[in-house]
Amino acid sequence: MKILGVAGTKNTGKTTLVTLIVRELVKRGYQVGTIKHTHHEFDLEGRDTWKHREAGAELVVGAGDDTFFLVNERFELEKILKIIKCIKELDYIVIEGFKFSNYPKISTTEVTDDFTISNVNVFEINDEDVINLVDLVEERTYGLIPGSDCGNCGYDNCLDMAQAIIKGKITEDKCKMKKLDEVQLFIGDKMIPLNPFVQDFMKKSLMGMISTLKTGETKIPQEKLELLIKNGED
Ligand code: SF4
Repeated sequence: MKILGVAGTKNTGKTTLVTLIVRELVKRGYQVGTIKHTHHEFDLEGRDTWKHREAGAELVVGAGDDTFFLVNERFELEKILKIIKCIKELDYIVIEGFKFSNYPKISTTEVTDDFTISNVNVFEINDEDVINLVDLVEERTYGLIPGSDCGNCGYDNCLDMAQAIIKGKITEDKCKMKKLDEVQLFIGDKMIPLNPFVQDFMKKSLMGMISTLKTGETKIPQEKLELLIKNGED
């Protein structure tokens, strides 16, 4: 799942640009999700879900033709991205807002920072510009930053590697840890590098144990299996 931000000041066409990019990505066959950062409340006062939250519910799910979640907590972008990754396999996430994130972004103003891959005047953009922009998005974006800082890619840390991708010097597949991802271990939010031997050992041992369980009609999925180990008092 690659991540792209669209940032800029108010009324500079961020939402318009997000929709143009999403349409072009979908046209190219990708599955796309979006995140909109807002300072406004989603759930208006007086609604039933608002009342649930006011009563003290930590998590409220509105389910109907649409589904939405309300959590009584402010989540960091990284956490939101991980939750989305668990809920749905997507090729791209396009984020409107979150201007200080460590992911490649397109700016709708002339402001540039280390993560800006392009500055766009949305009011003058044409179809060909959108195609070129999305070509750039395909080339210069990357997924969740592993955060292991293992140095196996030749860069001192993950953010240096991210900067190299943004500058077009390398591509994400040079991250050794992302290649070796058959078994992923997260301690808190940090992905811990596992060498191929350990991955193979863990996979075979766990799959061996799981295959002996009586799961009835529930088939053990071939693609992905998740295991959470609680290692505290909670
Ligand atoms: S190989 Fe991957 S995890 Fe290791 S420093 Fe490079 S980007 Fe980070």
